[in-house]
Amino acid sequence: MRILVQKFGGTSLSTDEARELVIKHIERERQRQYGLVVVVSAMGRKGDPYATDTLLALIARHGDSLPAKERDMLQGCGEIISASVLCSLVRAAGIPAIALTGGGAGIITDSQFGKARILEIRTERIHQALREGRVVIVTGFQGVTESGDYTTLGRGGSDTSATALGAALHAERVDIYTDVNGILTADPRIVKDARALSVISYSEVANMARQGAKVIHPRAVEIAQQARIPLRVRSTFSEDEGTLVTDTADVLRTAAVRDRHVTGVAHVSGVTQITVQAQDGPSDVQLQVFQAMAKHHISVDFINVNPGGAVYTVFDQDADKAVSVLRDIGYAPQAVNGCVKISVIGGGMNGVPGIMARIVEALTEKGIPILQSADSNTTIWVLVRETYMASALQALHAKFSLHE
Ligand code: ADP
Ligand code: ASP
Ligand code: MG
Repeated sequence: MRILVQKFGGTSLSTDEARELVIKHIERERQRQYGLVVVVSAMGRKGDPYATDTLLALIARHGDSLPAKERDMLQGCGEIISASVLCSLVRAAGIPAIALTGGGAGIITDSQFGKARILEIRTERIHQALREGRVVIVTGFQGVTESGDYTTLGRGGSDTSATALGAALHAERVDIYTDVNGILTADPRIVKDARALSVISYSEVANMARQGAKVIHPRAVEIAQQARIPLRVRSTFSEDEGTLVTDTADVLRTAAVRDRHVTGVAHVSGVTQITVQAQDGPSDVQLQVFQAMAKHHISVDFINVNPGGAVYTVFDQDADKAVSVLRDIGYAPQAVNGCVKISVIGGGMNGVPGIMARIVEALTEKGIPILQSADSNTTIWVLVRETYMASALQALHAKFSLHE
């Protein structure tokens, strides 16, 4: 049987009208003779009645009193509501369907509550239901430990449920339905002329996702890449086929993108740049600094070390702690709060001269100072102050003609 996994995100399930469109996408693929596994997120976003953030708000005022295991029981509820409501709608449309929890669908995880890893998927029950001609609706974001406790896979984890199920079931494809027309060249909330890409490689999209493009969970992309299952990211609200995510080799076969150097821009805001200088005389400043950060569980990024010291970033919420830890070991760090790390990403930039020059040009033309930069063969990162975030993203988007 040809199996297709369809995953519907929160906004795709948040209103009666949206849910009617979801039914249309299910009916269309069923007519194409696919065995369908439909993965759902909790309905809506922050503030909507059964959204994950709304459930978490119920305990927000109690501090950290709820242990991680019980917190997972709460935050996984939204998906159960979605799956049951959608099951009712699908059946009302005359299509046989069942709804399963993550555990019911055989998704076994470790017990890292809140960020559990999938260990195994026992697919017999899904296969049985598909053989009986049913649409199988599965709660995203959820798994179960061997001892029967509910777990969740990390925020945005319904994408991971979908691709993990796709891999375990040897699906022909996984379709991620959301509220935009695919993977766009930039965050559309900031860059208004961001454009949907027709095709992108797993590594480019994983890179964009890790660097802040919240359209898909990076772990979901990694799983699809390992299993070599194509993904489509598309909108519930249109018939447009969206963006195909596949191997680099397949991407390069597409004439339109063969000469594409830069694919998109992404950003992570709310970071602080920390500069530490070595004190007088020879010292092991780098060792001391990064050991101190590790000891206090402060996650560091964008690291540049030099003989005289180190420059790196931490999240704004960790900045005060990082500074006081460094002072305690005798340094006088400088901290610049409220920065944004911008990534210019493209699988085709490797070995192409002039990309950095154009980045510097774009930012200089707008009078935006670059606080730090780094590069790999597929990404160039720059750090700028958050006040310049929109103008920097727009300038880079325009410089590389990403709207075209
Ligand atoms: P869902 O609830 O469907 O999982 P998400 O909110 O997780 O939806 O992801 C979709 C959102 O990601 C879009 O509404 C868009 O604002 C945002 N986004 C950020 N960067 C990008 C990008 N490069 N391409 C597409 N969407 C992006
Ligand atoms: N509902 C979960 C979240 O908001 C999972 C998801 O939507 O992917 O993080
Ligand atoms: Mg999402």
